[in-house]
Amino acid sequence: MNEQYIVIKSKYSNNVVILELQPKTGTIFTFRPGQYTMLSLENVDNIKQPRPFSISSSPTNKKLIQLAIKVHGDFTQKVSKLKIGDTVTLSKPNGFFTFNEENKKVVFLAGGIGITPFMSAIRYVSEKNLKNKITLIYSNKTKKDIVFLNDLEEISKKYTNIQTIFTLTDTNSEKYENERIDIEMIKKYTQLNNDTLFSLCGPIAFMESIKQQLLDAGVKNDNIDMERFK
Ligand SMILES: Cc1cc2nc3c(=O)[nH]c(=O)nc-3n(C[C@H](O)[C@H](O)[C@H](O)COP(=O)(O)OP(=O)(O)OC[C@H]3O[C@@H](n4cnc5c(N)ncnc54)[C@H](O)[C@@H]3O)c2cc1C
Repeated sequence: MNEQYIVIKSKYSNNVVILELQPKTGTIFTFRPGQYTMLSLENVDNIKQPRPFSISSSPTNKKLIQLAIKVHGDFTQKVSKLKIGDTVTLSKPNGFFTFNEENKKVVFLAGGIGITPFMSAIRYVSEKNLKNKITLIYSNKTKKDIVFLNDLEEISKKYTNIQTIFTLTDTNSEKYENERIDIEMIKKYTQLNNDTLFSLCGPIAFMESIKQQLLDAGVKNDNIDMERFK
């Protein structure tokens, strides 16, 4: 069933809109970190075709649903014009690219806006003070493209079981890695053990290249999980 939500915050920066939404009535739906919702803009210029977006807030946050949306075409242009107080519709959460607390060691490999499902999981693990060991390697072109940079830096400072590595592919910076994610970079920060799950989200070519390198290095197919944003 779909539910109406009100925009309580909308921040546009560097081609990405961060939307915060509260239910018009009742409570936020329950979901698992990594799931997506179908967003419809029924009250905005009659654009009715719903689109999928992963939820970037944690299920432990009972106050709001957060989405981070990269502006591409007509639909996301309209999203970028939403104002506080506008109404949108969200479907019940969906999807199986979910964080499982049973996986004690997880490596998240994110490209660009592919950070969203991982952000939910990282917030969830930190807010529940879980002991899962998480390594995030997050690739962007430049520093200003890093969505959630401050939040991620704060979380990893506070929670030693959550390690965040940023890599910039179009700029050189001493503070960050400066290469595309490849098997050497992954091995620098984590071991390729059979008890580790590798989760990938980003452009298709990014995921396929990393998946192939993981397989070639001996990681089992069952230990690799991917979410396609198309
Ligand atoms: C399960 C799932 C979860 C998703 N989660 C998110 C999320 O958290 N944040 C987010 O920003 N997007 C997410 N997406 C992608 C998002 O749904 C689409 O980018 C969006 O619907 C594009 O709509 P549009 O009308 O703006 O673009 P369209 O008019 O459909 O396309 C405009 C142009 O952009 C290109 N384009 C569209 N989508 C993409 C894309 N994903 N990557 C590269 N080029 C693209 C098209 O080829 C076209 O040239 C997710 C998709 C899926 C399937």
